[in-house]
Amino acid sequence: MVATIIDGKALGAEMRAELRDEVQRYVQRLGQPPGLVIVRVEGDAASGVYSKAILRIANEVGVQARLNQLPADISPEELHIVLQGLNTDASVHGIIVQMPLPAHLSQQMVAETIAPEKDIDGISPYNAGNLLLGFPGFLPSTAAAVMEILVRTHTPLEGRHVVVLGRSNVVGKPLSILLLQKHATVTICHSRTMNLLELTRQGDVLVVAVGRVNMVTAEMIRPGATVIDVGINAKPGGGIVGDIDFESVRAIAGAVTPTPGGVGPLTNVVLLKQCIQAAWQQSRGKV
Ligand code: NAP
Repeated sequence: MVATIIDGKALGAEMRAELRDEVQRYVQRLGQPPGLVIVRVEGDAASGVYSKAILRIANEVGVQARLNQLPADISPEELHIVLQGLNTDASVHGIIVQMPLPAHLSQQMVAETIAPEKDIDGISPYNAGNLLLGFPGFLPSTAAAVMEILVRTHTPLEGRHVVVLGRSNVVGKPLSILLLQKHATVTICHSRTMNLLELTRQGDVLVVAVGRVNMVTAEMIRPGATVIDVGINAKPGGGIVGDIDFESVRAIAGAVTPTPGGVGPLTNVVLLKQCIQAAWQQSRGKV
């Protein structure tokens, strides 16, 4: 069997078209577009690239986005004040703080300071709690992007065994809860998991979010499984690869995401989708 390649770029384009229409409806009702601010503390080069990508998509779908770039030596108190200012700025509906932060700044402080109603990347304890309880709220964008792929490709989940490799707060953990909500049977694996191969081979769907080249090879795949590769690893000569040995996995899987062109193109689109949702929610009572 040669797997179907899941075209993340095409799914991303489909979602962007939906968001453009949604922003138009919003502007017709509210007279101005939704507003998004990306807060980036200087230091991590990759987060600069991600910020530009978010700004580009925001521009394409019509969301008014700006980058608030802060010096690497900003104090925790100053960052706290910046975030509180954005929380109370009525023209800002969504706030993203780019990670990783420099070591002297606490991710917990950021997560606890962003107003939950503007927390469009689902990092606040409030939104994490809502996710756990099955209440509406904003989701971590990468986990939500994986769900968009599974839903838009009509991948059966109810009653199926989904194996999630990785248990981070941004991907593995929230994704596992979202999959449970779709009635999948979920196994979460991590660096201390024994018999990894035995477990991954049981997955009707296997999601890999580790950050390690060639983490998953063909013998770890159930024949015909859907394999979603979240990993992004820099190649020595430039460019990126995922966590799976793509060619060998492709020969046995039923469907597989490529890297680049798989999960990546949807992650930022999901952020924008949640920003527009946040704007609608904050506009209640104004229209
Ligand atoms: P992370 O916080 O480093 O988590 C990695 C997870 O992999 C951890 O749970 C870790 O287990 C597990 N792991 C590490 N080595 C393992 C091994 N040998 N066997 C089994 N499990 C192992 O990373 P993350 O933030 O979730 O990101 C994961 C990957 O996705 C990265 O490559 C990242 O760049 C990529 N990513 C992509 C997108 C996108 O838009 N496509 C967005 C976000 C992240 P422990 O918990 O036991 O340490």
